[in-house]
Amino acid sequence: MDLQLSKILVVDDIQHNRFAISKVLQPLTNTQLVEACSGSQALSELLNNEFALILLDVNMPGMDGYEVAELISSTKAHKHTPIVMLTAHDSSTNDILRAYEVGAIDYLTKPIDSTILLNKVRQFVKINQLQNKANYLKSEREAILEAAGQGVIKFNNKGNIQFINSKACQLFNADSSEIIGSHFNDWFEGEEPEPEYDDLFTYLQSKTHESGLYQQFISTINDANNKKYSVELTCTSATKQVNSSMIVLFQDISARLEMEQRLIHLANYDALTQLANRANFHDNLSRALSRATRLNTTVVLLLLDLDRFKQVNDSLGHDVGDELLQEVAKRLKSILRESDIAARLGGDEFAILIEECQSSIDAEQLAKKIVTLISKPFLLKDKEISIETSIGLSRSVHGKTDKTTLIKWADIALYEAKSAGRNCYKLFVPAMSEHAQKTAQIQNRLRVIIERDELDVHYQGQFCIQTNSFVGFEALVRWPKLASGEVPVSPAEFIPIAEQSHLIHDLGYQVLMKACAVLQSWQKSADTQHLTLAVNLSAKQLNAHDFLDRLESVLCQFEFPFKKLTFELTESAFLNNSDYVIKTIQRLKSMGFSLALDDFGTGYSSLNYLQNLPFDIIKIDRDFIKRLGFCKKTSALVQAIMTIAKAFNMDVVAEGVENDIQLASVKKLKCNKIQGFYFSKPIPKEQIKALLLANHTVNNEIHSLTAKVQ
Ligand code: C2E
Ligand code: CA
Ligand code: CA
Repeated sequence: MDLQLSKILVVDDIQHNRFAISKVLQPLTNTQLVEACSGSQALSELLNNEFALILLDVNMPGMDGYEVAELISSTKAHKHTPIVMLTAHDSSTNDILRAYEVGAIDYLTKPIDSTILLNKVRQFVKINQLQNKANYLKSEREAILEAAGQGVIKFNNKGNIQFINSKACQLFNADSSEIIGSHFNDWFEGEEPEPEYDDLFTYLQSKTHESGLYQQFISTINDANNKKYSVELTCTSATKQVNSSMIVLFQDISARLEMEQRLIHLANYDALTQLANRANFHDNLSRALSRATRLNTTVVLLLLDLDRFKQVNDSLGHDVGDELLQEVAKRLKSILRESDIAARLGGDEFAILIEECQSSIDAEQLAKKIVTLISKPFLLKDKEISIETSIGLSRSVHGKTDKTTLIKWADIALYEAKSAGRNCYKLFVPAMSEHAQKTAQIQNRLRVIIERDELDVHYQGQFCIQTNSFVGFEALVRWPKLASGEVPVSPAEFIPIAEQSHLIHDLGYQVLMKACAVLQSWQKSADTQHLTLAVNLSAKQLNAHDFLDRLESVLCQFEFPFKKLTFELTESAFLNNSDYVIKTIQRLKSMGFSLALDDFGTGYSSLNYLQNLPFDIIKIDRDFIKRLGFCKKTSALVQAIMTIAKAFNMDVVAEGVENDIQLASVKKLKCNKIQGFYFSKPIPKEQIKALLLANHTVNNEIHSLTAKVQ
């Protein structure tokens, strides 16, 4: 801290008196003398300065010293400035008393004793400097209290406010004059303290004393406008006594609490539906299961998967998709009890947790209700949207089932529900386990394979007996060659699983990409230019509203004549006669692709399709071909197909010809195109050229052989 100069005002009309005084006071350090030769000059000096001391001569012309002193003492700014009167040597007691009356605090009689003057003034300077220091410290402390940004209040030991900083006034929404003297309880509210305490203040007083340090406490302020908000108090005892006065720092934490609440909510609830999120659900499930173990009760878990949600999302956009999920959440909440927990686990997967479910029947009843509820149309953006849900239920057994098992069981039951045609529920029974577990495993693995684009595609040749050469190939997806020990899965097994989930769409897309690349590469060589390539389309793909868009996004990356690409469809694609699918098929036809009716003879085999849909090719199923030689009925049927095909100008491909007998039977029926192991197994694309070349060599040999015979 810088030492301030103490200013001394010397008021005397006689110049040499002033000079003499200044000489006497010369030894004083940190002082500055200001001289005034009259009362009025003294007053004007007071306007601009603060003085540590005024030495004031009594006898002056004009205004005398008494009048000046009286005026000075009556001003607010200077009433505490010490005045020492310099009185004449013959002053009476009355004169001296008068000096005190008008505000002087001391007097010196002339002629002035220089030692007394010096020491007296020195004392006043000392007092002034101590005062300056105290003022400085006080203002510094106040600045710190203000800068703290917190409310600071000092309470006496009864809880009355003695000091309050301006931040606290702001938080109380009141003036310090209204606050000083009021009681802690007039402003702060908190949870009822334990009964042994009179009120919140004594409670805090005691706790603060006990801890010896400070006590933090969340309380509510009830401000002057009756607005309530949360504050955090830090209380410190002012002394070490039991019922000490207390200093309380406090700040508004309502924004912080709100933020904390929001973060807690975000961490535990799904932002879209406001249902519990996956993490929260798992916590609840763990807790429910430990309760069930303790109380020997049961926990029921329902896993829900929306059927056809992806289609809505893809065709109507994510906004509608999001709204749909919100509506589903609302419907679920509407039918659950307070104690049941509904969660969104991600995407279109939901879960429901029920405790104290009396019996499986209750849970099944609920599942049934949910299935019905979700299947009722939703009205979104003026559109009626229908979806369905499949539900898998599992039930804990005698408090022994752990979380992972309960979820696994519900998952298995969910697969069963989906396999059973969806829009239904299944309760887990142990018999489900093995099959469904395997399915779940394949699906999970397939998801990863597709994500990494690791699927392989093999190509099986289609052989024309007439030309004695391969005329085309069929692209068949293959499980990739994977880490040792992993058993490859056949498409007959994983395609239906892909169809049950949404994986079939990406699978189909990836196969199509690979097939188109092969077809494009064939255009560069005369040996392969003539070949057609068939790609299988699942009914699920045809039903997807974005199918044609995705197809176009693939086609625009390649160049080849569209008629070289054949799409193979099975009857299941148009079994429900959906207008949408029929339009899609017609669109494919009008774009120039060839269309093949696959697996003919296995399904309903309604000949109607042949009449109404623009197929170019019929593929007779392997099962038929197998029975050809032995079963007359089969032969008659194939014969009929051949006739119809001819009438409609369609090609026929016999599938699965494996041996000479089958080949002979097929030939007898005048079926010219054959796809079967007899001519070619499905092979990787790298082996196609070699296969064509081998066939060419054989043909040449036969040709030269026949030439020689002739
Ligand atoms: P599919 O479309 O009827 O394909 C013909 C199936 O018969 C292929 O089985 C093929 O390897 C097999 N096959 C051909 N000739 C013979 C033969 O002489 N003997 C025997 N025993 N089998 C023969 P794969 O590759 O196992 O495919 C099974 C089914 O999986 C396919 O039947 C098709 O429905 C489906 N699939 C395969 N790839 C795809 C694909 O990329 N997309 C779709 N959606 N489905 C596919
Ligand atoms: Ca096929
Ligand atoms: Ca087939």
